[in-house]
Amino acid sequence: MKNDSKPVYVTRSSMPSFEEYADMIHAMWNSRWLTNMGYLHEELTERLKKEFEAEHFLLFSNGHMALELALQSLEMKGEVITTPFTFISTTQAIIRNGLTPVFCDIDPVRLTIDPEKIEDLITEKTCAIVGVHVYGIPCETRIIDSIAAKHGLKVIYDAAHAFRVRYMGKNIANYGDVSMFSFHATKVYHTIEGGGVVCHDPKQYSRLSRLRNFGFFYGGLDGDQLGVNAKMSEFHAAMGLCNLRHIEQEIQKRKEVSEHYDQLLGKAKGLQLFPAIEGLERNYAYYPVIFLDNAPKSRDKACEDLEKEGIIARKYFYPLTSAFSCFKGRSDQGNTPVAEDIANRVLCLPLYAGLSAEDVEWICHIILN
Ligand SMILES: *Cc1c(COP(=O)(O)O)cnc(C)c1O
Repeated sequence: MKNDSKPVYVTRSSMPSFEEYADMIHAMWNSRWLTNMGYLHEELTERLKKEFEAEHFLLFSNGHMALELALQSLEMKGEVITTPFTFISTTQAIIRNGLTPVFCDIDPVRLTIDPEKIEDLITEKTCAIVGVHVYGIPCETRIIDSIAAKHGLKVIYDAAHAFRVRYMGKNIANYGDVSMFSFHATKVYHTIEGGGVVCHDPKQYSRLSRLRNFGFFYGGLDGDQLGVNAKMSEFHAAMGLCNLRHIEQEIQKRKEVSEHYDQLLGKAKGLQLFPAIEGLERNYAYYPVIFLDNAPKSRDKACEDLEKEGIIARKYFYPLTSAFSCFKGRSDQGNTPVAEDIANRVLCLPLYAGLSAEDVEWICHIILN
């Protein structure tokens, strides 16, 4: 038994010092401009535009609204080919737009949508592919983009896990037609609650900027879009500006923890760790482990044993979103045996800057013995 009794959670939000945050909000506090595209909002927008090397970038109140409105701004009808191995938000954003998800199986190593299985699912109703860069592992963007071009489909990436990921020399935001990022408190980079969209078409950008503000044209009285309120407040933007100063160190510290796990788990039989992918620069957002048949123990036993010791690992993503009861009658469950198998075997281990070496050793000891 470990001697200190504080539970270890799967993640811990990064935070600036209280003084740094107070300093960031000071001028805004006095000005009483609290939301509606204030100074901090505009400054964060500019900084993130540079971060993503993007021409068009918009902030949102959260990642889900960013994705839902990004899909809406593409004005599509019909079927969307997507992965069931994701957070429920991805599938909800599709269905809430009146689109039908068609679930495609995943690649057993990358865990992202399997491009070889996409074309079989294309019908005359297909309008788009929604891929997820799950755990910050990039989808096979080159193949997906070429399938989409051949069939005239849009490509939307849920990049909620992929802040600061680079792939084949480019920021991950610059693949496909649109990418959504989540800046939720549990993500690598966060604004407490928040999200962002990178897109490449100026018309779509303008529709999207109206959708986030009730469909209004700025300064005007009319709106031509059925919008919502999905604006980010100044307090959230302030947290984002502070956290952006520290993101480099945050990722470096996560890398160290992650490499410590690799050292201790890498030689064990039956554990499939983060895939080696050519051209990938990682963000160390998650530490997923897949427990194969010859692992020292099953995923569920490992999770249970960890919990007994106050270590809260998470079964991300179990169950598949295609199995959720709210989607009954709205979509077919599809035929995704690989995704189902992975969902039954995957466990995300605690990973955050400041997770101690002793905790990492203790976690690995429990998994291996
Ligand atoms: C976190 C997350 C979202 C939703 O983002 P929020 O900011 O929490 O609304 C969507 N998709 C995936 C894969 C996520 O992990």
